[in-house]
Amino acid sequence: MVSAIVLAAGKGSRMKSDKAKQFLEINGKPLLYYSLKIFDASVVDEIVVVTRQGDIDYVRQEIVNKYGLHKVRKIVAGGKERFNSVARGIKATDKRNKIIMIHDGARPCLTNRMILDSISGARRYKACTVAMPVKDTIKIVDENGFGVETPDRRTLYQIQTPQTFERALLEEAYDRLRLSGDTDVTDDTMIVERYMDVQSKMIEGSYENIKVTTPEDMVIAEAYLN
Ligand code: C5P
Repeated sequence: MVSAIVLAAGKGSRMKSDKAKQFLEINGKPLLYYSLKIFDASVVDEIVVVTRQGDIDYVRQEIVNKYGLHKVRKIVAGGKERFNSVARGIKATDKRNKIIMIHDGARPCLTNRMILDSISGARRYKACTVAMPVKDTIKIVDENGFGVETPDRRTLYQIQTPQTFERALLEEAYDRLRLSGDTDVTDDTMIVERYMDVQSKMIEGSYENIKVTTPEDMVIAEAYLN
């Protein structure tokens, strides 16, 4: 049994809009609707949405009830950083579900195939992450903006979501993170790697599975969704 946590508690400050980015509309529907719809129609058993306290009613009425997303079991308030929001999402999941998937609500173009592959990947490897090989050459730069090193491109992947884990592994990783007081983490794959010493299997995502971050991304996401 599988729980999906969909994150929508970010401020979206790079979007230059008063409205949080996850609620800006594409084809008349809020951005967050699209990933929830895919999860709702998938094999996952429950969805937990994490959003800002002041947006809980909006998500319930204008997305979950309006579009009849019946697998959304809980809508909970997120925290300051992404990892705080994930921690609250994990607490809200049904403990009987032994696989947990975490997805950025700002990625509307995930597919059912990614969900199925992620669940099999987590069953087989304990931890797996949707990712794509980078297309550009990536540079490590120094504090003055000069290139210092060029890692071999064949070893570099851009990480997307869903990121999917065995519950026990993810819960233990988050306990250790909390005890450490560390705040310099960006995603769950990194947390599991750092605190549990468990490597995540990279599984194929798609170049369309973008994270909507800036206003241009809305246009691109709209094109992909059509
Ligand atoms: O800020 P960033 O683009 O990395 O956020 C990725 C996802 O995490 C977004 O869907 C955002 O809403 C979510 N998030 C969150 N709580 C935070 C920060 C980000 O749920 N405190």
